[in-house]
Amino acid sequence: MRYAVLGDIHSNLAAFEAVLQDIESRGRFDKIWCLGDVVGYGPEPRECIELLRNYDHVCVAGNHDWAAIGKLSTSDFNPVAARACHWTAQQLSPEDIDYLQQLPLSICQDDFTLVHGSPREPIWEYLLGSETAQDNFAYFETPYCLVGHSHVPLIFELFEGVAIYRVFPEGDSLTLAENRLIINPGAVGQPRDGDPRASYAVYDTDNQTVSHYRVEYDIAATQKKMMERGLPLPLIARLSRGW
Ligand code: ZN
Repeated sequence: MRYAVLGDIHSNLAAFEAVLQDIESRGRFDKIWCLGDVVGYGPEPRECIELLRNYDHVCVAGNHDWAAIGKLSTSDFNPVAARACHWTAQQLSPEDIDYLQQLPLSICQDDFTLVHGSPREPIWEYLLGSETAQDNFAYFETPYCLVGHSHVPLIFELFEGVAIYRVFPEGDSLTLAENRLIINPGAVGQPRDGDPRASYAVYDTDNQTVSHYRVEYDIAATQKKMMERGLPLPLIARLSRGW
């Protein structure tokens, strides 16, 4: 089986379509494992939900998914994120709201636990350093965990009780072995590691590998749609910088 592991689509349809095309160009895949934040920030929330639902998939809830349906207050969001969230809320159909409403906080698939932020705090916690990651290994049962939320492709590996982290380089294939892992495939719709290309991973059960890929998409097309919809300028500009 081959699983498309992706998250933080953030209403960026052009990026999501480019990722799906890129995966298919590398071979058939069986299912999408989505790590949350389908909506928020970008110009096409409904289209992204619809495209995801066209595929066999599982998806966990992200903070933006909850905020868009009023399940989470935007008081902790920065002002531009909150503005985009209120715009997103106005676009969603009742079916979209039902879909986002039923997303679970955590899902187990094979040897993996899927969450948005962290196993300990699936909605809010960012895993960006070894200490936080080390604590989080106690909060899931499976050997491996997949996270999103930080929009940065990273690997946390537990060596004899100590978590070590490293960036997950493009084109790298990580072979699953004894050591427990927390893996972030990066963001589809709003990368924040200085590389503006969409980021995702593929889990291949035959080889027991997780491979990381980047793909260019039409950033200008997404930015144009954001302008037309009056979304905040800082959110439009950051897509070009990947930050
Ligand atoms: Zn996100």
